[in-house]
Amino acid sequence: MAERTTHRATLVSVRRETPSISTFRLDLGAPLGHEAGQHVKVRLPSVGARRSYSVASPPGRARTIDITVERLAGGRVSGALHDRTRPGDVIEVDGPRGSFTWGCRTPALLVGGGTGLVPLVSMLRLARESCQPGLVRLVASVRTAADLPYRDEMVGPEVSVVCTRAGSSIQREAGRLRVEDLRDALIPGATAYVCGPKDFVAHVVDLLDRLGCPPGAIRTEAFGPTA
Ligand SMILES: Cc1cc2nc3c(=O)[nH]c(=O)nc-3n(C[C@H](O)[C@H](O)[C@H](O)COP(=O)(O)OP(=O)(O)OC[C@H]3O[C@@H](n4cnc5c(N)ncnc54)[C@H](O)[C@@H]3O)c2cc1C
Repeated sequence: MAERTTHRATLVSVRRETPSISTFRLDLGAPLGHEAGQHVKVRLPSVGARRSYSVASPPGRARTIDITVERLAGGRVSGALHDRTRPGDVIEVDGPRGSFTWGCRTPALLVGGGTGLVPLVSMLRLARESCQPGLVRLVASVRTAADLPYRDEMVGPEVSVVCTRAGSSIQREAGRLRVEDLRDALIPGATAYVCGPKDFVAHVVDLLDRLGCPPGAIRTEAFGPTA
């Protein structure tokens, strides 16, 4: 595992994913050395507070990483990133951190809600670049089709998208994730990687339990208010 380092990163570009979610490309000057699923701690000198953001880009030798951040109402760091940063700004990045990782060796079911999709898209990208086809399935849950980040990549036989809000469905009628959504995607022997808000993660773990998925085959990462 790569040693954790603090980088003085430069913001290279900002790409809008949805009305409230943008991807920020940061030049670290050297590869981060992360594994798919890990996160970094980000500090804006103008704000001071540190927040965790998952790395969306796949592992590799690039000296840039992408983080994808939802602008939360009243959010100190997410608000400042969206409203007050410009290309060329310096941002402190500390990492890589975390053990929510997948390395292309075993089958995986990735289940993400909202920005919980960020570490999972790093895994999906790694799978598409380097793994045998069929090793990964991704189930994405978003409020509406307009809330889906990485839209161009959320296609193909290994990806299914469920919208929770009525009238906005992409692939089936709107609603919370159900057992059937996961049953079809659960490859035999797969480890499930679940990421999103705390109640989303608890709901998905319950569905996986009902499908007979052993607790040892379920990995979770929950995003929530900073303590
Ligand atoms: C391991 C990890 C990885 C994460 N990865 C990502 C990521 O890839 N993209 C991303 O957008 N966020 C991610 N987060 C959440 C992120 O760290 C911050 O919590 C979030 O950006 C809010 O920070 P803020 O300073 O903008 O809001 P704050 O100023 O801390 O809070 C503003 C308001 O929002 C509420 N709030 C704070 N955090 C959340 C939250 N996560 N969900 C809902 N309400 C919240 C607070 O209670 C408060 O009312 C991750 C969290 C963890 C622990």
